Amino acid sequence: MTTNKTALLSRLENFNPSNRLHISFEFFPPKSEAMEASLWNTIKILEPLKPDFVSVTYGAGGTTRDRTHNTVKRIKEETTLIPAAHLTCVNATTEEINQVARDYWDAGVKHIVALRGDVPEHNGNYKPYPGGYAYASDLVSGLKDVADFEISVAAYPETHPEAQSPEKDIDYLKQKVDAGASRAITQFFLNADTYLSFSDKCLDKGISVPIVPGIILINNFEQFKKFSKMCGTEIPKWVTDLLDGQDNNPTNRDMISAIIAVEQCRILNEAGIKNFHFYTLNKPDLAMTICHILGIRPQN
Ligand SMILES: Cc1cc2nc3c(=O)[nH]c(=O)nc-3n(C[C@H](O)[C@H](O)[C@H](O)COP(=O)(O)OP(=O)(O)OC[C@H]3O[C@@H](n4cnc5c(N)ncnc54)[C@H](O)[C@@H]3O)c2cc1C
Repeated sequence: MTTNKTALLSRLENFNPSNRLHISFEFFPPKSEAMEASLWNTIKILEPLKPDFVSVTYGAGGTTRDRTHNTVKRIKEETTLIPAAHLTCVNATTEEINQVARDYWDAGVKHIVALRGDVPEHNGNYKPYPGGYAYASDLVSGLKDVADFEISVAAYPETHPEAQSPEKDIDYLKQKVDAGASRAITQFFLNADTYLSFSDKCLDKGISVPIVPGIILINNFEQFKKFSKMCGTEIPKWVTDLLDGQDNNPTNRDMISAIIAVEQCRILNEAGIKNFHFYTLNKPDLAMTICHILGIRPQN
């Protein structure tokens, strides 16, 4: 992997995806009125790019959950976008979760990103909620009993931090697919090779659904470092060399972040990947720039 920005840019000259790429965007539910206005501005800017779907994350507490439900339903009602609602097993019985799912189905929301979730006071010792779904695979089965949802699940190219082993983690991913998931979306990563070898291992284990790479748009490197540590995502030295100290110069940082994300997509596209899920962090600019470079233009 090169560490040189000019080299990264010149390699883009050869990047010319023959067919339109498939994209999706991830948002998180806003915590205040100002954040809500900002999210809706982002949604309106990104809507003409016609993503396959947009997903909205789900928190652990009651109020954050209401914000997810409201955001998902508003996307369904007020935009042309297809919303996917994240749902977790945390702090709820199976019946409570099934009821949320039924409400979504009745509101026309038919795509769920089914996750185990993390307990808020997370200390590495996950315990299933009494009367709840234990793991994401159980949630996938339960959701399929409620209605014929389209279901996406999470995958971890660098292995989930609590996994018994990388092999077991892939076995459990297969359980989620066998239970009815039709797509996996990965945790963000920066080494394209890590994703590609993970993808090969999944194929070897008989997982044939798309494993869509989750592409992080880094708009705050200090925060990103903390989050990567929690998720077990390795930050390669060339990325640190490019981004360290750049939070003081947001214009420079954003340009570098765009190059990093585009370069990742270019390498993955060369390996045949045509679906990309962008972690937007509710900001439109990086997503717009990257999609533009990837040949994705607003459509009427
Ligand atoms: C694309 C994406 C979106 C996300 N969105 C959200 C969100 O909106 N809200 C949120 O709170 N979190 C979210 N997360 C984080 C996720 O909830 C955490 O990473 C969580 O710790 C694991 O969730 P999972 O669905 O991967 O769990 P699972 O697939 O259930 O796996 C969890 C762990 O248990 C192991 N395991 C799985 N099944 C079994 C079994 N039967 N027996 C023993 N061990 C098992 C796995 O190896 C893994 O280590 C997201 C993650 C990703 C990648």
